[in-house]
Amino acid sequence: MLFDETMEGLRSVFDTAAQRTANAVESSRGMVDRARARQRLQDAYRKLGKAEYEAAINGVTSMDEINSLIAEITDLRQTMLDLERTITRNGECFCPTCGKQNPADFAFCSACGTRLKG
Ligand SMILES: [Zn+2]
Repeated sequence: MLFDETMEGLRSVFDTAAQRTANAVESSRGMVDRARARQRLQDAYRKLGKAEYEAAINGVTSMDEINSLIAEITDLRQTMLDLERTITRNGECFCPTCGKQNPADFAFCSACGTRLKG
């Protein structure tokens, strides 16, 4: 009886530790996604500036290139917004479903279970 209770206690300690590890991994992955999206957005802005500059210098406008860069930038800006929505400045996450503020290392809302990582 006592043994069973001890095993049950240990099991819940292990479950909690496993969940914490999963949450931390998910969170750092979210930060990496955000840094990558930001880098790709900066690259796209730079390429757009170069394409515009060359068009002005040469008097030739490559609208295909400019339009595809603009489309890429629009996509990346949306991606950034989606990633920012769940991660606040101090690293805490607001649940998009119920609004509950969760610690930064949580992958799922502690109130309703919604996935917090974008
Ligand atoms: Zn929630």
